[in-house]
Formats: sequence, C-alpha cells, structure tokens
Amino acid sequence: MKAITFHGTGDVRVESVADPAIMEATDAVVRITTSAVCGSDLHPYHGRGAAPGGPPLVESGSVMGHEFMGVVEEVGAGVSRVKKGDRIIAPFSISCGSCEWCRMRLPTQCTTTGRAVFGGRFGKQYPGGQAEWIRVPFADHMCEKVPAGMTDEQVFFLGDILSTGYFCAENAGIRPGNTVALFGAGPVGLLALQSAQLFGPSRVYVVDRVDYRLKLAEEMGGTPVDLDKVEPVAELRRLTGGRGPDAVLECVGHEVPFGQAIQAVRPGGTVSSVGVYVENSIGFPVREAFFKDLTLKMGICNARNFILPLMPLIQTGKLQPTRIITHTLPLSDGPKGYAIFDKKEDRAIKVMLKP
Ligand code: NAD
Ligand code: ZN
Repeated sequence: MKAITFHGTGDVRVESVADPAIMEATDAVVRITTSAVCGSDLHPYHGRGAAPGGPPLVESGSVMGHEFMGVVEEVGAGVSRVKKGDRIIAPFSISCGSCEWCRMRLPTQCTTTGRAVFGGRFGKQYPGGQAEWIRVPFADHMCEKVPAGMTDEQVFFLGDILSTGYFCAENAGIRPGNTVALFGAGPVGLLALQSAQLFGPSRVYVVDRVDYRLKLAEEMGGTPVDLDKVEPVAELRRLTGGRGPDAVLECVGHEVPFGQAIQAVRPGGTVSSVGVYVENSIGFPVREAFFKDLTLKMGICNARNFILPLMPLIQTGKLQPTRIITHTLPLSDGPKGYAIFDKKEDRAIKVMLKP
C-alpha cells in the first residue's frame, strides 16, 4: 500500500510499504477513508526530539499520522463489537481498555501498549494512519461506530483535535461571564475556541500571529490579538482592565506561550495547556505561578473518552469542526500537505488527506 513515511527533518515521502494484517486476535484492519496532518506531526518534521541532539520523535522509515478513520475490512477471531463493513473512528493513542490505567479512564497511560500513539516511537510501535490501510489493535475497545448520516469530516476530529480542544476548554474551568485567553489559533486552538464558547465566557481573546487564522478565530466569535503587533501579556492585562483573564488556554506547545499564559492569567485563575512539549524540560515562571495561586492543568488528551459524549454536539451543530478544513488533498500529495501546513502557505489550517 501507499503511505507517508518519515525520513528526517522536513522529509516525508510517499512510499510503498507492507499492507497491514491481523497479528493478534483482538486486531482489526481498517481501510482508511480520511486521514490528516496534525500539529503533532510537525514536531518530528521540525527535527524536535526529547533531548537536544537525541533521536528524532519518529523512527526513520515509519508510517506517519495518528488521525484517521475508515471502514473495517477484517477482524481477528477475538473481536465481537465491530465487524467487517462498519465505518469507525478511533482515537490517536492506542490502549487495551483493560489495564489499571484504562480502567481509570486514562487510556493514554495504557501499560499494555506502553502509552503508544499511532505512528509514534514511544511504547510499542504501531504504523500510522497517513496510509491506505491500518491495523487497529484492541479493536473492540478502540473503534467507535460512526452514526449513519454523519460525514467523515464531521466525525473525524473526535479522534484527536476536537477532543483535545474540548479537553483544554473543560480543564480551564470556564464559568459563565469569564474572560478567556487562548494562545495558538491552529486547528487545536480553533476547536478549543469553539469548545470554550460552550461554557459561556464573555470574551475569548485569541493570540497568534497568522492573519488568516486570527480572522477565522474572529469569525468564530473570538477577539484576535496579533502577537507581532502587541506584547500579548501586557495586551491581555489591558483588555481585562488590568486584572488578567480568568482562564488561559495554551494550544501551541512551546516555552514562550506557556510562560506567557502563566504571566497573563489573573490571580487564582487557571492555565490549561494541551500543546505538546516534546522536550524533557522547559523554563517555567514558577515564582509567578506560585504567588498567583493559580491552577495548572495540562496533558495528553484521553480522546477515547470524548468520542461518544461530543458526538451529539456535532450532530446538533453546537460544535462545527469542519470549519477549520482548508485543504483536502490526495494521500499522494501528503508531502505538499505537510509543507503548506508547516509554512502556513495558501491559508492552510487543517489539511485532510484522502487515500
Ligand atoms: P499548529 O502548529 O498549526 O498550531 C500552532 C499555532 O500556534 C499556529 O497557528 C502558530 O502560528 C501559533 N503560535 C506559534 N507561536 C505562538 C506564540 N508564541 N503565541 C501564540 N501563538 C503561537 O498545530 P495544531 O494542530 O493546532 O496543534 C497545536 C498543539 O497542540 C501542538 O503542540 C500539538 O502537538 C498539540 N496537540 C496536543 C494534543 C494533546 O493530546 N494534548 C493533541 C493534538 C495536538
Ligand atoms: Zn494529533
């Protein structure tokens, strides 16, 4: 089959790789109908690693991608909930559903898979979803059937970035009338913005520097703050009468906005961070965090838990994840998809790939 493979900084290729097959009785093989490029795919693409000079985040030659959905083509003898022909969506992290952490509803901490992510190099290695086919382990637990009448694009983001955006907003503890600031108007940030609005804030200030992303944030009801025109911490204070936003959402995954989120939030406020920090450690304005009595919540999203609860919010139009899609390319144009998403060319926000 054809797949997007990783070969080092800025180098992803369309290559022929082995077709997936059932390896365990609990597996399914899924024919992928829609895939996408995620901001998390950009970390290895940028050459980021856990330690400076250390190994890249993805093994050279491995199949990239953890956002996918499709149709079940084959199931192992131990699979009973899903069957051939079912349209399914699966979360980006791979979990068994039965270990101690899965039973605590923390599937990203699954000890059976070693916290594996499709296409990642942590834990057990599972090829990714920027491909024509994929092996989905623990299929009964991992796969959720797609309700008839919903398009791929409506459902797709439940597997990762809509769930992540919602998780970010929910963790921020937003109360009706609160002021909220959000760093990063990429796909995750824009879906965090939609999610934050469900909690009734008076304003959501959206900080980024990419004009067309700020424009979409504004169309979605956010108030843009261009960090190339103003210093965001001072500006957020000014916009909130000197006090700072009640909650700050961090959807970038870098030291600078993380520190600025802590500096911007009001005393006793909450910082909710979902940007991925690939490095082992970063600088942290710990003194300010301490003296502010702030609450900090962060983490990898247990997207599995959000797929079913968020589905009706999409069906009723309260969440409109398809609004972030700017490009739908054939899988064979995957390298171009990475390049325009990374460089923010052609007004790219979310790039979908069709095998
Ligand atoms: P993206 O790279 O398109 O979005 C990042 C946005 O942040 C861009 O629009 C960029 O212009 C903006 N930005 C850069 N520096 C900034 C700064 N200093 N202040 C404000 N904005 C700044 O990627 P994305 O797909 O939206 O993903 C965002 C982050 O979420 C990534 O780190 C990704 O790895 C992470 N992520 C986390 C989870 C999770 O489970 N926690 C899941 C999916 C993605
Ligand atoms: Zn992702």
